[in-house]
Amino acid sequence: MLEISVNRLLLLVCGFIVIFDNLVFWDKLFQRIEFFEASGFGFFWGFIALMFMVLYLILVLFSNKYTLKIFLSIMLIISAIIGYFSELGVVFDQFMLTNVIDNIKEQNTKEAQELLSVPLVVHVSIFAFVPIALLWIVKIKRQSFLVESRNRILTTLAVVVIAIILIWSNMKYVTYFGRENRDLRYFINPLFVIKSGYSYIDDIFYSKEIFKVIGNDAVIHKNNKKKTVGIFIVGETARADRFSLNGYHKLTNPLLAKRTLMNFTNVSSCGTSTAYSVPCMFSLLSKNNYSPQKADNQSNALDILQKTGVKVLWIDNNSSCKGVCNRIESEDILDQNKLDISMLDNLKHYIDKQESDVLIVLHSLGSHGPRYYKRYPQAFEKFTPACKNTPEKCTHEEVDNAYDNSILYTDYLIDSAIQLMNKNYPDSFVFYASDHGESLGEKGVYFHGLPYVIAPKAQTHVPMLAWFSDKKSGNVNQVLSHDNISHSLLGLFNVETKVYNEALDLFR
Ligand SMILES: [Zn+2]
Repeated sequence: MLEISVNRLLLLVCGFIVIFDNLVFWDKLFQRIEFFEASGFGFFWGFIALMFMVLYLILVLFSNKYTLKIFLSIMLIISAIIGYFSELGVVFDQFMLTNVIDNIKEQNTKEAQELLSVPLVVHVSIFAFVPIALLWIVKIKRQSFLVESRNRILTTLAVVVIAIILIWSNMKYVTYFGRENRDLRYFINPLFVIKSGYSYIDDIFYSKEIFKVIGNDAVIHKNNKKKTVGIFIVGETARADRFSLNGYHKLTNPLLAKRTLMNFTNVSSCGTSTAYSVPCMFSLLSKNNYSPQKADNQSNALDILQKTGVKVLWIDNNSSCKGVCNRIESEDILDQNKLDISMLDNLKHYIDKQESDVLIVLHSLGSHGPRYYKRYPQAFEKFTPACKNTPEKCTHEEVDNAYDNSILYTDYLIDSAIQLMNKNYPDSFVFYASDHGESLGEKGVYFHGLPYVIAPKAQTHVPMLAWFSDKKSGNVNQVLSHDNISHSLLGLFNVETKVYNEALDLFR
C-alpha cells in the first residue's frame, strides 16, 4: 500500500488544481504575456508560485487528518466543475454564486438538470473522480503531531518565501500587467470563487440592516376615473439584436411587427444575471448606487404602487421574484412545467374581480438556457435545424436557430398579452423588458453572468418595448437602461411621490 504524508498529499492536490483546473486561465495568460522574454518568464513562474501559495495556505488551514480526504475531494469536485464552465466563458462571481445558491434554496432542480450534459460528466470524471480515486487509495502516513506540524510550517515558509522572491523580482511587470489585465482574476480557479463566497457571506450580514420604507408620500393623481390595467413582462435572456423589430435579418417578431408600439432600441441591462438584474429593474436606486442587498432592504416600485391602491400581482414562471414580490401577492407556476403563455390563463377573470387599477407582472422563462429548444412548442420551430442539446454540443447555426425560435415564442407571448389588454381594457398597456442578454458561442463564450466590465454587448444589450391602448408609437433610439423602468411604472399609474424622477420616465 502506497503511503504518503499529509503534507505531501496537500502539495500534490494543490499542484493538480493549479495546473489542470486552470487551463482557461493559463491559456489567457499565455496569450497576453511575453513568455519568451525575461520579464514575462519570471512573472509566469512568480504567478504560479503565488497561486500555489494561496491555495496551499487555504488547504493547510482547513484540513486536519480526520477531514483531509473529504475536504480535498470537495475541493477537487468544485474546481473541476468551475474549470469546465470557465471553458464556456462562464465566471462565478458573487452574483453568479447568488443565482446558484438561490436555485438550491428554491429547490429549483430544473436549471441544474438542463446544465447536466455528457461533456460536463466526462470533464468532472477526468479532472475530479480520477484524482479522488487515487486520493482514497493511498494511505496517510502516521506522523507524530510534532513532526507533522514542523513539516507544515516549513513547507508554508518555503512556499511563501519562493512566491515572494519571484513576485518581488518581477515587481515592475507584476504591477503593470496586473493593472492592464484585471479581468484575468475571474479565471483563477478556485480562488476567485472562494473570494466570491466570502463577498456573498459578507453581504448577508450587510442585509441585516433595518428595512427602509421609501415613497410613503405616494398618491395617485389622475383626471379620469377609468381603471388603468397594465402588464409588465420581465423577459429572460433575450438579446436586443435578435429581435427583428431591432433589425435582425430573421423575422423573429412577426406578430409584434403588426402592432403599433414604442420600441426602445438602445437599452442596456443593469446586470448580466437574473438575481442581479430583476431587483434592479424594480428598484428606485440607479445602477450606480444599486446593489441587490440595498434594493432588498428598501421599498421598490411595486411596493409604492401597492401603497397607492394599485392591485399588484406577480406571476412567476422563472425561478423566483428574487425578493421583489416579498410584500406583494404572488403566484408561482414554475413547478407545473408550463410554457410562458400559461401565465395569461385566468388573468381576465382576476383583473375583472379588482375594483382598483391593476398591474400584473409576468416573470417569464423567455429564452433561458442552456436548452433553448425547451422554451417553445413544436409549432414555433420555424428556424431549423435547431440545437436539441446544450449549446456547446451544437453548431453555431443550430444554436442560433433554437435561440431565435425562443424569441419567436416571446413575440407570441407579448402579442397575446397585448391582445388581452386591447380587447378588454380601454385604458391599458403592456410593457416588456429583458433582464439581460446571452452569449451564444461568440468567441467561445456561452450563457451569461460575466462581470459587467468584461461582459460582451450580447449579454447587456436588451430589448424593451411598450404598447398602449391609446396608440403611442415609434422607435426610440436614445441611450436608456433598466433605471428607466421603475420610474416609468410609477408614471404609467400617475403616481406622485418625492422618489419619482420624471426625467427617467419613458412615457412622459
Ligand atoms: Zn435572467
